[in-house]
Amino acid sequence: MEYDVIVVGGGAAGLMAAVVAAERGKRVLLLEKMDQCGRKLRITGKGRCNLTNTAPLRETLPHIGSSTAGTTKKPGQDGGVWLRNAYGRFFNRELMDFFERRGVPLVEERGGRVFPASGKALDIFLALIGELEQSPLVTIRKNCTAKKIETLDGQTTGVVLQNGDRISCRHIILATGGLSYPTTGSTGAGHLMAKTLGHTVVDTVPSLVALKCEEKIPEELVSFQLKNVQLSVLDGDTTIYKSPIGELTFNPDGLAGPLTLSASRHATRPLHSRNHALTQSHNLKALLDLKPALTAEQLDRRLQTDLDQNGTRIFNDALRLWLPAELIPLALKQLHIEYYKRLHQINGEERSRLGRWLKGVPFTLTGTRDWTEAIVTQGGVSLAEVNPKTMESRLVKGLYIVGELLDLDADTGGYNLQIAFSTGHAASESL
Ligand SMILES: Cc1cc2nc3c(=O)[nH]c(=O)nc-3n(C[C@H](O)[C@H](O)[C@H](O)COP(=O)(O)OP(=O)(O)OC[C@H]3O[C@@H](n4cnc5c(N)ncnc54)[C@H](O)[C@@H]3O)c2cc1C
Repeated sequence: MEYDVIVVGGGAAGLMAAVVAAERGKRVLLLEKMDQCGRKLRITGKGRCNLTNTAPLRETLPHIGSSTAGTTKKPGQDGGVWLRNAYGRFFNRELMDFFERRGVPLVEERGGRVFPASGKALDIFLALIGELEQSPLVTIRKNCTAKKIETLDGQTTGVVLQNGDRISCRHIILATGGLSYPTTGSTGAGHLMAKTLGHTVVDTVPSLVALKCEEKIPEELVSFQLKNVQLSVLDGDTTIYKSPIGELTFNPDGLAGPLTLSASRHATRPLHSRNHALTQSHNLKALLDLKPALTAEQLDRRLQTDLDQNGTRIFNDALRLWLPAELIPLALKQLHIEYYKRLHQINGEERSRLGRWLKGVPFTLTGTRDWTEAIVTQGGVSLAEVNPKTMESRLVKGLYIVGELLDLDADTGGYNLQIAFSTGHAASESL
């Protein structure tokens, strides 16, 4: 056999796996279906690549979720626990050392986010690909699509390519990514290959993605950015997610921006399962708190004072006391308070309606934007069928499954790339 290991997919996880395998003296064949490796890696973090986060392990784990790792089925719980072993060996400090040793200085920004100091995701990619291109042990084949993993008696024996060629090998690392941003090459091929080999693939849904809502977003709000607000997601009367205080923007069909992306991890699965079932009983809603620093009582006292002090002002104009101008059309539409009333005419019930609205502008969630805009995939190859120490399949010997292909997804902040790098590293370390 010509190669010790075939890595299928040249994204973050596959590139890391190939570097580590070569470093350990393995002959590596890297197969990439696109004309270039690392297309997604190069656009991460808006071209700046937020490669990891400096948060310690115990603070990191709750940011990572899985649909099936354990019993709780809540994003943000079990995925992190599953990764504990791999992270114990190669986590954020080791990843930062890895790149700094390869001549890529890094900087830490707000919230522990780590970027290359140059501000260029390309530098992270070049550090990986440069090393692979220089290694006599590594062969890279681009424009080369793997179609099938071959096995005999539960052991991998090789890879069949789209063009029908067959390459023998007893170790195969499957790193084909998920379904997000399909133009970067990740179109779900790995899910099919894993399924064919008997693996369970947990239903995939787009995550870290804008949310659609039933309410019409007024034109003046589209692309407008709200700062210092908070977003909650409710399923019926139960709050299933409450964001930290941050920024939010609007699309013509719903909510976008950082807070929405984080909230989407918790809303996407119920939204998609309802859509699939074709029921109209969407009872998922988002509440936008425009005054998160004030309690309802504090806000009511402030409203009372403002109404007293500005009694002759017209409601329509006075809304500027509490809102940016862009939100006024939505407020008037939802509050059902006559716009021409003077503030001294606003009664107690109307004041408390205004207060409730400021603490929770309601949006009825109807779905998410699609894969072309989703940052990551929720769902994937079931973690129960993969050894968390080695990333080796529990069903097929010699098959290793890494990166976004696994049923793991995380919040924004560098956590998703750390998953890709650490799982890629763990697979090659264990070869
Ligand atoms: C716009 C955007 C910005 C992001 N920014 C960040 C960020 O700043 N920080 C962060 O932590 N995460 C970020 N992410 C998420 C992160 O990029 C992914 O989680 C990570 O790239 C997953 O790595 P992967 O190697 O598993 O998959 P991918 O990077 O998707 O790589 C999979 C590779 O496999 C190849 N492939 C697929 N099928 C085949 C086949 N049959 N044969 C051969 N090759 C195949 C694909 O062409 C691709 O090159 C971002 C994602 C997007 C879309």
